[in-house]
Parts: sequence; structure tokens; C-alpha cells
Amino acid sequence: MSTAPRAFSGPRYSQNADKAGSLIPCVVCGKAISTEHPAMVRVDTSNRIHAIEADLGDADMGCFPIGSECLRKHSAIRALASHPVVRADS
Ligand SMILES: [Zn+2]
Repeated sequence: MSTAPRAFSGPRYSQNADKAGSLIPCVVCGKAISTEHPAMVRVDTSNRIHAIEADLGDADMGCFPIGSECLRKHSAIRALASHPVVRADS
């Protein structure tokens, strides 16, 4: 089982997040997320990544989006991340 990286732990997180400007940065690497409905994860106060439905109590920092690049790279996060339901009918 691979270990999930911590949130905000990418080696260039701050530089990438700066570059993202008004776009939402990926929770791991900080690169701008261009997808309209990115997968989401929940983060605790130790920057550990959880499934969005996890109940973290006082340690809950909320939900953050994750980019597709990091989802592909980190299978441990892929297993936790939400995937928006795409409906054929609207
Ligand atoms: Zn990323």
C-alpha cells in the first residue's frame, strides 16, 4: 500500500499556488486546477488527506480539490478522492 502525500506537501507548492493566481490550487502540488468539477478530499490539521465523508471532528480543515495529475500519480489519494457524478440527464 502506497502512502498518500500530505496536503500542501508538493516540493513547489507555494510557487505553483502563486502561479495559479485566481484559479484553485491542487491540494497536493499547488498547480492550478482547470477542471470545473475536480475530485475533492478532506484535510485534517496535520495535513493528512482523508475521504470527504470522513468525520474529523475538531481536526477538520475542510474539503479541498485535487488535480488530475496528482490523482494519477498517487493511488492512495485516488482511492479516497470523490468523483463528481456526471449525469446524462440534466
Ligand atoms: Zn496536484
